[in-house]
Amino acid sequence: MFSKQHLIDPEICIRCNTCETTCPVGAVTHNDANYVVDAGKCNYCMECIAPCPTGSIDNWRMVRVPYALEEQLAWTELPEQEAIDPSSTPVVEAIDREVDALLAQSHAGTGGKAIAPPSASKPSVNVFTRAKPAIATVQGNMRITAPDSVSDVRHIVLAFGATFFPVLEGQSVGIVPPGARADGHPHDVRLYSVSSARDGEKRNANNLGLTVKRAEGGVASNYLCDLKVGDVVAVTGPFGSTFLMPDDPNADILMICTGTGSAPFRGFTERRRRAAPGAPGRMIMFFGARTPNELPYFGPLQKVPDALLEKHLVFSRLRDRPKQYVQDRMQATPGQIATLLQRETGHVFVCGLKGMEAGVDEALESICRKSGLDWRALKPRMRTSGRYHVETY
Ligand code: NAP
Repeated sequence: MFSKQHLIDPEICIRCNTCETTCPVGAVTHNDANYVVDAGKCNYCMECIAPCPTGSIDNWRMVRVPYALEEQLAWTELPEQEAIDPSSTPVVEAIDREVDALLAQSHAGTGGKAIAPPSASKPSVNVFTRAKPAIATVQGNMRITAPDSVSDVRHIVLAFGATFFPVLEGQSVGIVPPGARADGHPHDVRLYSVSSARDGEKRNANNLGLTVKRAEGGVASNYLCDLKVGDVVAVTGPFGSTFLMPDDPNADILMICTGTGSAPFRGFTERRRRAAPGAPGRMIMFFGARTPNELPYFGPLQKVPDALLEKHLVFSRLRDRPKQYVQDRMQATPGQIATLLQRETGHVFVCGLKGMEAGVDEALESICRKSGLDWRALKPRMRTSGRYHVETY
């Protein structure tokens, strides 16, 4: 008799702890090496699947005897699926169907399962792992906040030379900081959104841009922000198969972001400019920062024509103005947003601070109410049709 065992791929997992904090039954645990699932506790509720940024959590094996925690904690890669006797296949299929039904139910409860926009290109994921990373060379490292600002945000360009590193706008990559922690274990891999278009900083350059804010004590952010041109960097990924730019030139794209959460939208804008200049679809951005000096890419953004990108730059700490967040400014143009939400080609992307998610949700609910729409009903529909995407940390 087989059972379906939930496992985490140690080669892809970035040890961000999201699964352990999400699991409602305490089935996920970890040691210094790995995050693992206790087969005796996992109830297939699937709560951990959607929040995992890499997809490493979504691994399954049909097993006669479940792998014990001690075994999993020592793995460096997932075991192969053991051979299944054909006579037991109906049992396997029944378990598969049961798990799929649970998965569908759990996503429905959280506002609909997120899927990629129907017109998005097919992403490659997990091509490079911690064990076999792509080696990139630093081509540029430019500060993109004002020199006198307290916020040191950098645009870092990584070139892959003869190695093809396939990315789409909206995907992330993992950065492997060199060296080890005090306890001798390698540093955890950190995720950053790609802030360039799929064909590079310049067309067909086989490079990509990252937007990185220096965080006090941050291992990966300080490593990246201190990189010099010519340094080499180990890169994993790409990651992400749903937060992807629609390729349809008719797509209206509403982008709501704070700080470095703007990274993927730089890629979206550049992609639209290159692939579909003059596209009928509108690109509208609500971008929040404390001050213009702290807003990443403030100078270059001013030069992006409104016909390509309608910009609403929102500041929370201007001396002579009341604090304003993106969700406050969105309330100022309710008609335009409500129209976009109702169009089958209208897409919403939210990226940045975790805290903004609830505020943006409330703003959309209030905007819908004013237009006679029911956001609680519309949101799950938008998610399951690949039109509503959230990536907050
Ligand atoms: P930040 O500078 O700390 O904040 C940007 C703005 O957001 C500030 O004006 C801040 O206002 C405002 N804000 C604070 N709480 C808010 C809320 N509840 N609702 C709406 N606005 C709010 O931003 P950051 O340090 O760059 O952080 C950006 C986030 O994006 C991080 O969590 C990062 O992990 C995430 N992210 C980064 C990337 C990347 O590739 N680097 C990609 C995706 C996401 P006040 O401070 O005045 O309250």
